[in-house]
Amino acid sequence: MRGLLTRRRALWALGAAGLVGLGADGARGDGIERAGVPGPRTPVDAATPVPSPAPTPTPTPTPTLRPAPWTAEPITTAEQPVRRLTELVPAPPPNTIALTIDDGPHPAWTPRVLDLLAEHDVQATFFIIGEQVREFPKIAKRIADSGHQICNHTMTHPTLSHASAKKIKREIVDAHDLIAQTTGIVPGFFRAPGGGWSPRVYDAIAEHDMLPIDWAVDPRDWARPGVGAIRRSMLGTKAGDILLCHDGGGDRAQTLAALKDVLPKLKKRGLIFTPL
Ligand SMILES: [Zn+2]
Repeated sequence: MRGLLTRRRALWALGAAGLVGLGADGARGDGIERAGVPGPRTPVDAATPVPSPAPTPTPTPTPTLRPAPWTAEPITTAEQPVRRLTELVPAPPPNTIALTIDDGPHPAWTPRVLDLLAEHDVQATFFIIGEQVREFPKIAKRIADSGHQICNHTMTHPTLSHASAKKIKREIVDAHDLIAQTTGIVPGFFRAPGGGWSPRVYDAIAEHDMLPIDWAVDPRDWARPGVGAIRRSMLGTKAGDILLCHDGGGDRAQTLAALKDVLPKLKKRGLIFTPL
C-alpha cells in the first residue's frame, strides 16, 4: 500500500478542511486542493499617500462546487480501480451516483455538455487530457469555474498498461501540473485511458495522492452505437454507480442527445449526482 491509506486520509482531511471553510468564496470540500489562492491582502495604511488609484481587480467567477455529501472514513486500496461509490466510502448517502466525463476539453462538445449539466443542475466529474488542456485552456477553466470536479486523464491519452515507469510518470506529472496551473485545481483522482492499469500506474498515482477510478456503467458512447443504445445503458445506472461517458475524442452528438434524455429521467428516479 506504500502509505496510500495515510495519504488518502490526509487528502480527505483537506476535503474536510474545505467543508469547514465553506463560505463566501465557495471553498471546495471534495478532497481537491485549490492552487494559487491568494491570502488576505494587507490593508493600505490610511496615512500612506497613494499616488494613483489601484486598478480594479477583475472579479473571479465563484465556483459553486458542492462537497461530496458524506463524512465517513473513506476506504480504498491502490491495487485496483474504484468502480462504485461504496469503494470510496463505506456508506455513501442513499441514491447517489457519479457522472464522469472523459477526454475533454473539446471546443465543440464540452461547452454543450456544460450547458446541459447547468440546465439540469447536475454536477459531474471531468477526466481531462493534458494536451487538450494546453490547446483549450479557456474551456478547461470553464469546467472548473462551473463547479465541476476536475481529474487527471494523462497528458496524451496513451495505453499505460505496458508503459515504462518513466513514461507513466511523465504522462501523469505533466498533466497534473498543467491542469493545476490552468484550472487552479490539483486533481485528487486519476483514470487510466482505456482502463490500462498496472502496478506501475498505481505506484505513480499514489505518489501524487491520487486514487484510481474506473466505472460501473459503460455505455460505450465513444464507439457511437446509436443514441438508443447509449440511453438504455445509461438508464441502467443504479445508486452507488460511477457512470462513464465522453465529451472528447470524436463526434459526441450521440452522447449529448442521450444525456439530454437521461439526466432528467435519472433525477426523476430520485438519483442524486455527486462528485467523487
Ligand atoms: Zn479516455
